[in-house]
Parts: sequence; structure tokens; C-alpha cells
Amino acid sequence: MGTKYQEFHRRSIEDRDGFWREQAALVDWHKPFGQVLDYAKPPFAKWFVGGEINLCHNAVDRHLKDRAGQPALIYISTETGEEKTYTYTELHAEVQRMAAVLQSLGVGRGDRVLIYMPMIAEALFAMLATVRIGAIHSVVFGGFAASSLATRIDDAQPKVMVTADAGMRAGRAVPYKHLVDESLRLAATPPQKVLIVNRGLDKDMPRVAGRDVDYAELRAQHLDAQVPCTFVESSHPSYILYTSGTTGKPKGVQRDTGGYAVALAASMRHVYQANPGETYFATSDIGWVVGHSYIVYGPLINGMATVVYEGTPIRPDAGIWWKIVQDHKVSVVFSAPTAIRVLKKQDPAFLKKYDLSSLRHLFLAGEPLDEPTAKWIAEALGKPIYDHYWQTETGWALLTGLPGIEPHPTKFGSPSFPAYGYDVRLLHEGTGQEVGADEKGVVAVVPPLPPGCMTTVWGQDERFVQTYFTSFPGQQVYTTFDWGIRDQDGYYFILGRTDDVINVAGHRLGTREIEEAISAHAAIAEVAVVGVADQLKGQMPMAFAVVKDPAKIATPEQRAALEKEVMGTVDGLLGPIARPKNVHFINQLPKTRSGKVLRRSIQAIAEGRDPGDLTTLDDPVGIQMVKDAVSGK
Ligand code: AMP
Repeated sequence: MGTKYQEFHRRSIEDRDGFWREQAALVDWHKPFGQVLDYAKPPFAKWFVGGEINLCHNAVDRHLKDRAGQPALIYISTETGEEKTYTYTELHAEVQRMAAVLQSLGVGRGDRVLIYMPMIAEALFAMLATVRIGAIHSVVFGGFAASSLATRIDDAQPKVMVTADAGMRAGRAVPYKHLVDESLRLAATPPQKVLIVNRGLDKDMPRVAGRDVDYAELRAQHLDAQVPCTFVESSHPSYILYTSGTTGKPKGVQRDTGGYAVALAASMRHVYQANPGETYFATSDIGWVVGHSYIVYGPLINGMATVVYEGTPIRPDAGIWWKIVQDHKVSVVFSAPTAIRVLKKQDPAFLKKYDLSSLRHLFLAGEPLDEPTAKWIAEALGKPIYDHYWQTETGWALLTGLPGIEPHPTKFGSPSFPAYGYDVRLLHEGTGQEVGADEKGVVAVVPPLPPGCMTTVWGQDERFVQTYFTSFPGQQVYTTFDWGIRDQDGYYFILGRTDDVINVAGHRLGTREIEEAISAHAAIAEVAVVGVADQLKGQMPMAFAVVKDPAKIATPEQRAALEKEVMGTVDGLLGPIARPKNVHFINQLPKTRSGKVLRRSIQAIAEGRDPGDLTTLDDPVGIQMVKDAVSGK
């Protein structure tokens, strides 16, 4: 941890107003703000009070002066073969057309627009157009099923829904509009209008007269539209994003406008060291928070070109991302460990095939980055790899290195240090006291949360306070629900969710720790560990592992031998307490389409319970494999 980092971080906490006032100069204000922070009603933080701003102006219009002809949006679909680059001027025109269409459908300031779209340029036009006219978008990931979509519709109560006939994944059309229709039958408060981008992928797309409208037709009526930005007060909501994977009713994470713009602009410099005029490639999806922050707003606010990619990392072959890096001179790639593990199973020659000289570094987030994966990609790419840690709630990194401030040596498996603005503490779960170096605690943040973080749960202020700020009696601190540890050098390590904790004979173990241990065995490509009920010990870990070379476990004897070996590895690294009850070998883990392993569903199956909501599942094969493994098939 260098002195520049330390000073930068210290100032962000001790001179909060001065620090954020400086960062706020990175964006355009229509009317300057007065107070930097209004924290009269903790834990609700209002940043840049009284300032008037527009996200779309900052992402698009303000660049027209210097970057009119520069690429802004590079759309690539390896599914349909389409490729189209929009300059800032073209993006400006498209966003105004979309804005005019939305206005013609009655959308105005404060109205919600629900966007349920595949990764196509029009999805970004819709997001940018919504915030342009002061409305609030709620993007729902395309993998959600009709009932999940209906729940979100009823919570957000959108005036208009924007969708497409279909998306495409791995060569297959995935119908969207069919699903929208079903969700609207289930919803209690369906929107009046559904705007459809018809890609011609679903010839049987149903239409409901009077409700469904065609984007191409309406766009043609607004080709010359000039829709000025609606400037809103800084704390005006820009969007709602529902958190995934939680039980019960999804939480609508609400984001403001001014704080978010400033946080993203600052992060592009200090965290990603990304410069205007360069190209940024985040491999996520607009349905997730990474997509919002680093496919759409971050790169554009920073005057960069952003890559919008529809496709998988391995089609037409495992070199596709790196070809994009070469062809579009990408300087920063942002991806997730799971995607890297997918690549790890392919021929590494694909990483050497293209000219990656434009690439400065690779950032990874979203889940624990295990050491073997980190090492593999670092060696294969020959570029710095940064793990960083954040959540839908925070909107940008909470733990990260700051290459833009000061380069620092990374440690494998560590997302490094607290980002500026976050007063991070590791608290003892029971006492709420700070733990010492190398001691495990809950990752918590002393509020106020910095700009860019969620401001409340949509329509449920009390739930915001209850969910996030009441874990430690007697003190109001934000809990991340993650276990963490800080080493003697100040590096943090995330040990897994507090809510996925395993309690084995009174000893608490993070699933992450056991997964790391199992991954250390050379034969293992990927593993998920869950706690299963055990009569004797309360809970026992159970592992579901994917091997690198299935040929090596072709016979029952080979499987048994490898299981024993893996258990031995765990014994050696963590002790017999952490030894899994079983290590099941399967070909594929069940994951959401954003790459998160569905541990709770695996756990439910392992305990003979119903796996619950599987609507975010990427591919049903993984879940079936878990079922077969558990039932001994
Ligand atoms: P989501 O809000 O769906 O993005 O999930 C956030 C959660 O993902 C965090 O609370 C962590 O449990 C996990 N996570 C995100 N980034 C990392 C990381 N770099 N290392 C370990 N876990 C991570």
C-alpha cells in the first residue's frame, strides 16, 4: 500500500467535502450544487445538493464538442454476425429518436421505463433516452422468467416496457416478447405500452393490438427529433436495479443521478486508469450492475468507446474477446472470474493469437477470484490483472487497487484495499468490534456511503435501513454480508457471504475457503461447496467439482481415488474440519447467466429440498448433474 494511495484514501474520509467537490468537477453540472453532502437523516445520504445534472448529457452531449466523429458505441453480435459502430454524433441522434418515441408514448419525468432487452445497441439507446427525459429505467436481465419479471413490473410500475422480439445465445434464438406477454398476464399493474425492437428473429412473435408498438415505425417518424435533456436535481433517481439471487421479494436498488455520475467519472480515472478516446470492453450484460456502470455510463461519461457484445466468450472460438481487443484497440477489459475459467478450459493458444498491445490491464469482479484462475490468466495474457470487489448496492468498487493513483503490487486472491470514500471496517459478527489483522470479520462500511451507492430500496426506505444497517446492535453501519480478512500488509481477502456460512461442529467455515483449497488440486477446474445438514456435526461441506480432464475420472475407481486425493488436499490446507463429506464430480456447475454459482439451489438439492427459483439459471444441465450426483446416478 503506497503513500499516494493512503493519502488519497485518508483525504476522502477526513476531508469528504473537499475530496468529492474536486471529483465532482469531472462531470458537467447544469446548475452548480451547494452543499456537497446532506447527511441530516442517516443513513440516507444526499450528494451534491441542489446541483442540476443529466446523466445522458454527461454520457453523450457534452462530448459532441471534441469527439463528434469518435466511436462511442461498438455493437458486435457474434450471434447474428452484425457489427456497427456509432460515433458520438450518431449515438446522440439515436438517443434523441428513442427519447422522442418514449415521450410519444407518454413517458415523462419520474416515470419508470422497464427495459427487458438482449445486448443490442437499442438497449443502450433506451437507457440513455430514459434518463435524458428525467425518467427512471429499470433494466431486467433477459434471463429472468415471466413470474420474476411480473414481480419487478408490479414493484416498479413502469409506464412503458421496452423489449425485443428475441435475443440469441450460442446460436439459438431466445424469445423475449413471448415472455413479456406472459409476464404482463401475471402482473397486477401492467404498463399501457410495450415498445418492440423487432430483429426479425422470431417469426411467430405475438402482438397485442393497441398495446404493442413497433420501434422501427415510430423511429421513422422521429428521425430528426431534437429532445433536450431534462436536468434533474442530483438526488433524482436515475434507475432501479433489482438484486438477484436473494430469497423473498427482490429489492429495488435505487441510484441517484449526480452522485452516480461523479462516482463513475472518478472511477474511470483512479480505478481503471482509462482515458478518453480509448475503448472499454466490459463483458457483462446490461441487466447487471456491471453493465449499467461499465458498459453504459462509466465509459461514455469518460468519453470512451464502449463495446456492446452479444455472444459467448468461446464462439466462434475462444479467441473472440481478444480479437475484439485487437480490432478495436481496447485498453481496459472488465470481466468475471467465471468467464476466465471458461477460457481456461480452452486452448491457451487463442490468447496469443491477437495483438493485445492496446490492452493496459484486465479487471475482474463479481465473485471470488481463485488463485489458480488468477495465475493462469495473468500468465496467459501477460498483462496486470486486478481483482476488485463490489456489489449491486455499491454501484462501483468497494475494495480495489487504484492504478490511476499509484501502481501497487497485487496479491493473488485479494481485491486489494478500500476504495476512496469507503470507510471500511472488519467487524466481529457477535460483538461488532473491529477485528485485528488476519482475523475474520464482516466487511462493513461506516456511513455515509460514498456517491454512487444505492440511496434506498425503491419505495421502501424502512427496508433499506432494516436490511443493511441493523446487523450490529448499537451502531449504524452498512453490512456487505461478506466475510473478509485483512492481512498484515493491509490487503483484504473476501471469504464468502455471511449468509452462506457453514457451521461444522461449531466451527464457522466460509465456502470460499474450502473452494480455494479444492481448487489447489491440479485436476480441478472449478468447484462449488455448500453446507449440508449433518446429524452429527450440524453441517458438513459438500463439494461439486468440475475436472479439467474428464478422461481421468472415467471409471468409478478413478473417481474414488480423486475424491480421496481432493479430501487430502483440503485436510492439508485447512484441516480435517473442512473436509467435504463428498466430492461429486460433474461436468458443469449450475450458474446464473451472470456467472454466479447457484449455491443455494445446489445446497437445497443436496439436502433433498426443492431447489427454489431457478429462473436465473443459464443452462438446466448443471442442475440436473447435481441432482444425478446426489442421487448416485
Ligand atoms: P452482486 O450484487 O450480484 O454483484 O453480488 C455481489 C457479491 O458478489 C458480493 O457481496 C460478494 O459476495 C461477491 N463478489 C463481488 N466481487 C467479488 C470479488 N472480487 N471477490 C469476492 N467476491 C466478490
